[in-house]
This record gives sequence, C-alpha cells and structure tokens, in this order.
Amino acid sequence: MSIQTDRSLHDVVVAGAGPTGLLLAAELAAAGSRPLVIEASTHPSEMPKANGVVGRAAVELRRRGLLNGSRLRVVRPRRFGYGPFTLNLGLLRSPLHILPVPQRRLEEQLELCAVARGVTILRGHELIGFEQDDTHVTVRVSAAGSESELRTRYLVGCDGAHSRVRKHLGIAFPGVTDSSITRIARITIATGAVVRDRRGIDIRGVGWLSLFRPNLTPHGSVTIAPVHAFDPSAPAGLYTVRTHEPRGDTAATDELSTDALRASLRRILGTELPFFDAHAARSVIANSRQAEHYRSGRVFLAGDAAHVFSAGGSALNVGLADAIALAERLAVALHADADLSRLDGYQGERHPAGRRALAVTRVQHALETAGESGDALRGMFEVLLRDRTAARRIAMLMEG
Ligand SMILES: Cc1cc2nc3c(=O)[nH]c(=O)nc-3n(C[C@H](O)[C@H](O)[C@H](O)COP(=O)(O)OP(=O)(O)OC[C@H]3O[C@@H](n4cnc5c(N)ncnc54)[C@H](O)[C@@H]3O)c2cc1C
Repeated sequence: MSIQTDRSLHDVVVAGAGPTGLLLAAELAAAGSRPLVIEASTHPSEMPKANGVVGRAAVELRRRGLLNGSRLRVVRPRRFGYGPFTLNLGLLRSPLHILPVPQRRLEEQLELCAVARGVTILRGHELIGFEQDDTHVTVRVSAAGSESELRTRYLVGCDGAHSRVRKHLGIAFPGVTDSSITRIARITIATGAVVRDRRGIDIRGVGWLSLFRPNLTPHGSVTIAPVHAFDPSAPAGLYTVRTHEPRGDTAATDELSTDALRASLRRILGTELPFFDAHAARSVIANSRQAEHYRSGRVFLAGDAAHVFSAGGSALNVGLADAIALAERLAVALHADADLSRLDGYQGERHPAGRRALAVTRVQHALETAGESGDALRGMFEVLLRDRTAARRIAMLMEG
C-alpha cells in the first residue's frame, strides 16, 4: 500500500473529536494556532452518555465564550446528589456549578466553536501509529482504505478510554475493574402511571423513588431521571434509568435487550417497573483507572485517554479541565518555542487533579454498594454530612 505524506508541519494534531479533543482544539485555535483534529468515526455517536458538566469546567466554558449563541446556561443548583445523599448546597453556601446538557449537544456546540475558530476536523481518519523525534511527531492515519502520514509539532491523544495513543506509548493504566454492572436505557413510562414532585416520583405498582440519585435496595440500586431536566426538547414520560447490581460473570454489551433490563429492575426493586419502549439500552462495567504519565516527549494524553471513573459526574469535568490546562501550555510552547520541560507542568497539575477525582468518585461508588458494608459506610457518612464543614468540603471537591 502506498503511503501519502502531507509535507506541511501542523502545530498540534488532536486524535479524537469527543468533548476533550474538541475543546482542546477550540482553545488552541483561540490562542492563535491551527490544530488539526482527526476522528476515527465518520459521524458523531448518538449514544446517550453524560447529561451535564459538573463543576469548574462549566464556568470555564462560559467564561471562554464557548456557550455563546446557544441556549446552554450554567446554573447553581440548591441541591446535588453525592452517591445516595443529597447535599443541601443553599444551606452550605457552597457554589457548585452545573451545565445541564446532553453530551451529544455539548459536542455539537464545541464543534461549532472549534470550526468557527478555524479548526479542521477530519472525520473517518483513524490514528494507527506514530513516531516522534526531537523536533516533531509523524502520525500514521488510515482513511477510506488508504494510509497517509502527517507531521506535527505535538500530538494529543483525546482518543477515549481505549486510547491507541496511550497504548502505543506503552503507558500503564493501573486501577480496578468494578465487581458490579450498570445497565442504562431511556424508557418511556405512561404519564398516567406516575405522580411527580420536585424530588421524586410515585410509580404505580412500584412506590416512591427519588429522582436523580440512586434508590438503594438490598439487591442494588436504581437511578431514574426525566430526560426533560437536561434536554428541554425531550417528551414528558421519557426517563433515563440506571440499574446497578453485582455482575457475577455477566459481560457488558452495547445491545442490551429490554428483557434483560426488565429482569434487572425486577431483581433490584422486587417488582415490575411499568415501562414500554426501552432504547439506547446497554450495560457497562465501570473501571477506575489513571494513566501513569500524561506525557511522553511531544505526545500528551487528555480526557478518558488519561483517566476513567467508576461513578458519574466527574469524567467530563476532569477531561474538559485537562483540555483547558493543556491548551494554555501548548499555546505558550508553540509561540515561544519554549523549552519542552516547561510542558511538564501539565502532568504536575492535571495528574494530581485526576487522582483526587478518582478518590471522590470511588467513595461515591462505594456509598452505593448494596449490603451490610454499604449500610455501615452510609451510616457513617450520614453522621459526617451533618457537619457543614465536611459537607462543604465534599461540594468543593466536586466543583474541582
Ligand atoms: C453510558 C455512559 C454514561 C456516562 N455518563 C457520564 C456522566 O453522567 N457524567 C460524566 O461526567 N461522564 C459520563 N460518562 C463519561 C463521558 O462520556 C466521558 O468521560 C467523555 O466522553 C470523555 O470524553 P473524551 O473526549 O475524553 O473521550 P470520548 O468521548 O471517548 O472521545 C474519544 C473520541 O476519540 C475517537 N477515537 C478513538 N480512537 C481513535 C483513533 N485511533 N484515531 C482517531 N480517533 C479516535 C473516538 O471515536 C471518539 O470520538 C459516561 C460515559 C458513558 C459511556
């Protein structure tokens, strides 16, 4: 196979057009460089993932003008869930910022901004390898059955949890794989079958369930939330539902059957949840992992390529914060042709931040564990959270 070589030298090649890669590229462009984004998929994924950005990253998106022209608004909720607990933020006088937005919508907004700032995004272009020397990185790309090479001063792997960039660098990704499984779907519940108030829903035949936070039973937990809360265009009656229970030897799947979802709900709730129409149903087994290094020479990792978390709420925030920090440092290096060692500050700043977020989410995850150990931990936490200083500290950690 002949390999075409693009002779031009790019400032930065970003592998992956998820939220981290798009934000990184948009910020680099705002600082005057011309990043190139290569994305393996030919079109954006429609799989529902996160429903919002929690913490500082939301404020930074607004401050940098990345939400301008959209209807997206950063809000300060009065209450927010931490595992099965609710932090009363109003009482704590703790500013936790939230940008309620489906991840797909956020990606659209970031892509619009990036393109408006002059970023080129090449879809259907997969990074398949690279080599680096003292002055640049040569990236091998596969697109439509042919291979080509790109030369760039810096390469950033924003290519997700299974990062080819990380693996190619041989960077270890230590951590743990969860012993439980999470099943996720969007379901429709007949409006006549539910009575709702601000904090919960009473579902016919099931009883009262909290919204947005795990409802624990001795067999696991069920979290339910109206999609309308983060996507105003969604119809009433559409909910996201997550079940969480021990996994045994079950494997994760992107094509979870409605029967398997029903069975999981029945095992945990002890009764049938009356829904019809499950879509985007899948199961995931959470991992809690962090790359040992975020940088090797002229190649960097950011977002899920650098860390994955076992509980929701932090992954997007931390990945977006990586992108902002790295864009600032690369912009300086590109302009000043700075000493490469100054880029070490990225690892120094973001690796500890990732480690802290891992700890916060692992505790959050442990608080949702069924059984006696989980009960004991929840009992202890309940006492601790009565102390406002402790509760405020947790809110601050979530803010990042
Ligand atoms: C079901 C689910 C629910 C979630 N819920 C939450 C939540 O509630 N809160 C939260 O904060 N987070 C949540 N997350 C996590 C969140 O979605 C991720 O943290 C986020 O997508 C990470 O963004 P990223 O840009 O780093 O990586 P990704 O979004 O994974 O993007 C990586 C991109 O790189 C591309 N790519 C991969 N390999 C290559 C290659 N070799 N060459 C070129 N391109 C490549 C991929 O196609 C992809 O587009 C959830 C995730 C899932 C799956």
